[in-house]
Amino acid sequence: MGVKPFTCTECAKSFNQRTTLTKHKKIHAGVKPFSCSKCGKSFNQKEYLKAHQIIHTGQKPFSCSECGKNFTVKAKLTTHQRSHTGQASEDTRKFTLE
Ligand SMILES: [Zn+2]
Ligand SMILES: [Zn+2]
Ligand SMILES: [Zn+2]
Repeated sequence: MGVKPFTCTECAKSFNQRTTLTKHKKIHAGVKPFSCSKCGKSFNQKEYLKAHQIIHTGQKPFSCSECGKNFTVKAKLTTHQRSHTGQASEDTRKFTLE
């Protein structure tokens, strides 16, 4: 259950069936129709291009509601916000408390 033994060597994504992996790998071999007008970098998905292009605008659209820090990528904000939830420090305390 939940084991995905077939891992893509290109992007480390895991799959539970070899056929699914084989199908997936085509996105790495194939054309990348979405290219950045600023630097020419190509992407196989429009979402990737959109995420990439933020670096050219200099905008950091994701800001932390706790401390106002800005981030270019939502994942980074999410990671950062964990430091405000106190979950991490609580875990540490478990080990330090006798
Ligand atoms: Zn892949
Ligand atoms: Zn670019
Ligand atoms: Zn913050």
